[in-house]
Amino acid sequence: VTAKSLALSEVMTKACDFYRQQLRGADRAIQYLKKRGVTGEIAARFGLGYSPDAWDSLRAVFADYGASALAEAGMVIDKSDDEGAYRKRYDRFRDRIMFPIRNTKGQVIGFGGRILDQGEPKYLNSPETPLYQKGLELYGLFEARQAIRDAGYALVTEGYMDVVALAQLGFPQAVATLGTACTPTHVQKLLRQTDHVIFSFDGDSAGRRAARRALDACLAHVNDNKVIKFLFLPVEHDPDSFVREYGADAFASEVQNAMPLSQFLIKEVSADNDLATAEGRAKTQFEAKPLLQQMAPSALRLQLVRNLAQITQSTAAEIEALFELSQ
Ligand code: ATP
Ligand code: MN
Ligand code: MN
Ligand code: MN
Repeated sequence: VTAKSLALSEVMTKACDFYRQQLRGADRAIQYLKKRGVTGEIAARFGLGYSPDAWDSLRAVFADYGASALAEAGMVIDKSDDEGAYRKRYDRFRDRIMFPIRNTKGQVIGFGGRILDQGEPKYLNSPETPLYQKGLELYGLFEARQAIRDAGYALVTEGYMDVVALAQLGFPQAVATLGTACTPTHVQKLLRQTDHVIFSFDGDSAGRRAARRALDACLAHVNDNKVIKFLFLPVEHDPDSFVREYGADAFASEVQNAMPLSQFLIKEVSADNDLATAEGRAKTQFEAKPLLQQMAPSALRLQLVRNLAQITQSTAAEIEALFELSQ
């Protein structure tokens, strides 16, 4: 750990403590969390806080509000004029519910801040810093680690509120990829914790796209010991709204019925293609090729090859030759 990243982590810890303390007296913020069904107990478990509705509330927290570490940590924003002369500094997060993002060691490395009720942007996230790289971190992984072991699987969602709601209603094995696509690094990180991962994104078109990108991110890392599934919610729901509206049993049955990666892959490559025509079957093979090429030789890949051969009126050997799949 360099001296610089140590200073950054100190900044984050201090800011986190401050925001937590500010939540106590913030009636509007507490009302907002109550309205969303968040209990005090779960808010404390995730260290939720509140950033006051002021331009420089961190001035009272840090002895030197001008310190460069505050800007490097992304907690303040520096403005200068065209000549770079006049500098004005202000807090990045104002009047927001604060979600601390921790690394697997439990250090606070960034924040997500949600506006109370309506407004833009709905969420404001910390910028990337030497401590925080979005493509590497999963929100809630530190808090979920033991639960993932106990449950035997991890749930991967899109948002902070999904993780918090699922944990509150009996699924503490949930994590989130914070507004970024699920990367191969995320997948690797998850598969180090568990051999069973269930993606549960929003039911809307953005969530469907996220699922497709997660599929792509998984292919290089699946093997015959791993089970990866996709849970598709009704279009108007995300895991938070679904579990709160229909309850834990309903969500558990969605988990039970989640679609295995193999089925999702075949569905993706054959969707929009008419398998009754040679063109539709050829297009299906064309779409499957780059996906199967990412997979290492495995029993699962062979199953997919056979499945694809069957629906495209080919043989497994023909598919393997056409896709140049090495053994
Ligand atoms: P809520 O339930 O509080 O309305 P959500 O988590 O359902 O929020 P989505 O719009 O589904 O919100 O977005 C999923 C995730 O994407 C958010 O939790 C957040 O991490 C990220 N995100 C959403 N909007 C923004 C934004 N404007 N800027 C940055 N990140 C965002
Ligand atoms: Mn969404
Ligand atoms: Mn939501
Ligand atoms: Mn959502």
